[in-house]
Amino acid sequence: MTENERKELADLLYPNLSHDIKYYEERYPERKLPKGAMVTRYAPSPTGSVHLGNLLSAFADMVYARQSKGSFYLRIEDTDQKRMIEGGIENITGVLHDFDILPNEGYSFGGEYDPYIQSERTEIYQTYIKDLIVRGYAYPCFMSEEEIQNIREEQEINKTKIGIYGVYAVDRDLSLEEVKERIANGQEYVIRLKSPGDASKEIEVVDCIKGKMKFPEHNVDTVLLKKDGTPTYHFAHAIDDHLMHTTHVIRGDEWVSSLPLHVQLFELLGFEPVRYAHIAPITIKDQETGNIRKISKRKDPWFGVKYYDENGIPIEALHLYLATITNTNFEEWYLNNEDKKIEDFEFSFEKQAIGGTSFDEAKLVNLCKTYFSRKSGKEVYEETHKWAEKHDPDYANLLEKHKEDMIGFFNIEKDGPRPRKDIAKYSDVKEEFSYAIDSMFEKEAYKKYDGDKTYDTDLILDYINNDLELDCNNEEWFNAIKLFALRNGYAASPKDYKNNPDSYKGHVGDICEAIRVMITGRLKSPDLFSIMKILGKDRIIQRINLYKKTI
Ligand code: GLU
Repeated sequence: MTENERKELADLLYPNLSHDIKYYEERYPERKLPKGAMVTRYAPSPTGSVHLGNLLSAFADMVYARQSKGSFYLRIEDTDQKRMIEGGIENITGVLHDFDILPNEGYSFGGEYDPYIQSERTEIYQTYIKDLIVRGYAYPCFMSEEEIQNIREEQEINKTKIGIYGVYAVDRDLSLEEVKERIANGQEYVIRLKSPGDASKEIEVVDCIKGKMKFPEHNVDTVLLKKDGTPTYHFAHAIDDHLMHTTHVIRGDEWVSSLPLHVQLFELLGFEPVRYAHIAPITIKDQETGNIRKISKRKDPWFGVKYYDENGIPIEALHLYLATITNTNFEEWYLNNEDKKIEDFEFSFEKQAIGGTSFDEAKLVNLCKTYFSRKSGKEVYEETHKWAEKHDPDYANLLEKHKEDMIGFFNIEKDGPRPRKDIAKYSDVKEEFSYAIDSMFEKEAYKKYDGDKTYDTDLILDYINNDLELDCNNEEWFNAIKLFALRNGYAASPKDYKNNPDSYKGHVGDICEAIRVMITGRLKSPDLFSIMKILGKDRIIQRINLYKKTI
């Protein structure tokens, strides 16, 4: 076709577009951002539930945009209407809110580059397609599903590249008359790229994470607009990332194989190329086979985002975990910098694992424990209460009733160089602090005690009633209980007892152990004196009497 014929064809196919390319280029001007600012986007398709891999890429989008003072936007890629799931879009925005991975712009967040949902941008795509047709880089293709399937089978038998290209691209050079005739006959068509690529030549792409990669040039006449006039992902993302002035496309590495097409599309459309950063999937060691495999929705509870909320993993702790996957040097930095937050870390693509990062539950638990250890008792209280309101309302009520006590318990052993690391999730709190609330303690008391000793309640009651002084510091208390031990035939230290076992009934540690078991129902607990101080004498005595009755 001559240029004039192509123009006629383009007008025939798209007679009623409201604007031309120039309009859109002006409508979506360059962003006014500082030099080096990254514009990133999370561009999910509402075709399934959000999973950990999605959160990871959205998290990376967020941190890179934030640290470079750029913009992070949400774009809904709903071009595949057949695969859309009900509530899919609300689910995406809900998850971003729940997990505090908030774009500053985009679908449901607003912004000047709207609409941020592809189904409302059809005319834009058609405008650019029209231009490609005029310039001879796209054409209508009338091949039927059956024809395409036959070609595919033939290609599979011959072990040649699959797709419509070269001799298989039978509609590539139809004359204007032929096209007109088919359209007049009501034949359906898609718009295909008229790829100028030569597969015997190579292109080089430098990925921000994977580095230099070489591919044969793209030479397939890929579908750009489907029969219903809506675009394929490949075409839509090129137009949108250009008009929305994305600088970095951070996405799963299942898209690496599409790079030659994407690079070609940008070139043909005359767009400045975007930078790509392909993230490898999260992997896991399969319990049954021992092989490393992709983390899966079906087999791994951690993959679905519900898991984190239901189990009470703090969002910020999950962010820490995502940060360790995003940059391999993050974890060490975080553990060594007590007073720092994720925002203080400088992320860089060079520090992102090129191969898959394996999901490490122990690492997640450790980060969670560190997270809790750095929170004040009040913060632990507030966050746990909020979580319990949703997941365990009875416990939330109890927490409220005993707020001051709870904060006190959460604060035990918080100061000092090695704060306690006892809780990893909000759901651990109830069990870990089961001794904190009388009504809970009374129900559970001693059920979990698995020691084999019984303790002398008379001795302990005597100590609490006649000797215990709570209005002092830990050291004074310990000195006093040592004297009590000596007066009652117990050594003042394990060492003294060891040296002279026949002269003593035991040592001061045995007395402390007895008190601990009686007032907490367990052999290990946070600092005993701090617990006693919060409980006060009366409640301690009640618990000793309960012990007497139960054991
Ligand atoms: N809509 C694509 C997907 O959900 C997005 C890929 C991309 O980020 O470009 O896989």
